[in-house]
Amino acid sequence: MILRSFVLLYFCSILSGQTCADVAIQGEKIAAIGDLKNAKAARGYDATGKYVVPGAIDVHTHMEDGLSDPKRRDAVAYLTQGVTTVVAGNCGGSPLDFAKTLGGWRTEGIGLNAALLVGHGSVRRAVLGVAQRPPTPEELQKMKGLVEQAMKDGAIGLSTGLFYSPGNFAKTDEVVELAKVAARYKGFYASHVRDESNYSVGVMNAVKEALDIGKQAGLTVEVSHLKALGPDVWGSGPKLTAMIEEARRNGQRVYADQYPYVASGTGLEAAVYPRGAKREDFESLREQVERNIARRGGPKSLVLVAFRAHPEWAGKSLEQIANETGRKPVDVVKQVLDGGGAGVVSFNMSDADVEHIMKQPWVMTASDGTLHTFGQGVPHPRSYGTYTRKLRNYVLDRQVITMPQAIRAASGLPAEMLRLTDRGLLKEGYYADVVVFDPATIREKATFTEPHQYSEGVELVLVNGKAAVEGSRPSGGLFGKVLTHP
Ligand SMILES: [Zn+2]
Repeated sequence: MILRSFVLLYFCSILSGQTCADVAIQGEKIAAIGDLKNAKAARGYDATGKYVVPGAIDVHTHMEDGLSDPKRRDAVAYLTQGVTTVVAGNCGGSPLDFAKTLGGWRTEGIGLNAALLVGHGSVRRAVLGVAQRPPTPEELQKMKGLVEQAMKDGAIGLSTGLFYSPGNFAKTDEVVELAKVAARYKGFYASHVRDESNYSVGVMNAVKEALDIGKQAGLTVEVSHLKALGPDVWGSGPKLTAMIEEARRNGQRVYADQYPYVASGTGLEAAVYPRGAKREDFESLREQVERNIARRGGPKSLVLVAFRAHPEWAGKSLEQIANETGRKPVDVVKQVLDGGGAGVVSFNMSDADVEHIMKQPWVMTASDGTLHTFGQGVPHPRSYGTYTRKLRNYVLDRQVITMPQAIRAASGLPAEMLRLTDRGLLKEGYYADVVVFDPATIREKATFTEPHQYSEGVELVLVNGKAAVEGSRPSGGLFGKVLTHP
């Protein structure tokens, strides 16, 4: 196939490089780039006036279950954003049987290329349950064994969710020991840091801990969804990026990822209930819960995703539910936690911090999303619109960053962090993960109230040379490969 006469962005060397050229694809690979008017091809694709870019590499997802599910593994919500590769198993949560999980992806097929991190939280839970103590030497040995087996079977690195239970119960040295195992297999370290706000150690110390772990274990650090969470720490963006800049100047390999929204998505319990506290102690913890609600911007800033006992509350804020039912927000929290808990969309970031972080040349675009069952619940819209929103809102409409910066943050930069030498760029010999989009129409449609809507404007998506989306329609093909550590 030859893609003819389009605007081609080159990211190999110069950020602002932009040119017109043709791209020839043979089998799974890019065969040639240049003026190919006279070349013969079985078929051509007219991309006049469109952008042709490398497929996006989403380094921060939670798709590990979705990719194993026959109903979701085609990953249409991501392909329609132009994503062709993902990393799953973030924030400390992953399957532990890598041979089985990755084997299943290989034999059953997946809609895009995927790699899987081994999650520290899952490893810790398997060995220590939810015990709030350091492991014994034997337990640590067992945990290291699980990480080692995962790495041998193809894990791409180690992830932690030190904010969550049970990751939160680990001290730094425990994580260093496990990260050393991942380092031996050239894995990297991705961390949802211990505190993105001022819950405990504070966001600065939490990011510093991630840097220290990378330094001591000798591996690449990816700070997951870098942010300053909550009004108490708004304005910390420049301090955070300065600390990472300094580590980079000192030779450390450090990156961060970010989703282009001012709201995060998590569980209500994780957001407002003290870590490790028992449910029956709620009454004595009311003030702390109220403090944590305030920390996240108040009850209007926390919107329920889905609550089994009251499906009609999905999409409503704690404030709305409290007003409608004539109670205090903290009482609504109690009812939700007693009723099995619920996901929340949490509006807790400032535009200034989001934009400052986005401009850093080492910050990758990532969704932090997952493969939802279409139409179910009111989840964060990022799983449907991260990449298209960034292009529409931050590049085309508001010019916060340039188009080449945005494309690099989505493809070349994550490929560099992952040490992929055959993806992430449009280059001869590279895998043909290629996206054609129309700058006039590209946009996200998913909103916080109606998230289950595919993005618009992505016309063609090739995964390993095969059309996963053509004429803006998903083909349903499962053309992805499993990627492992280098
Ligand atoms: Zn996370």
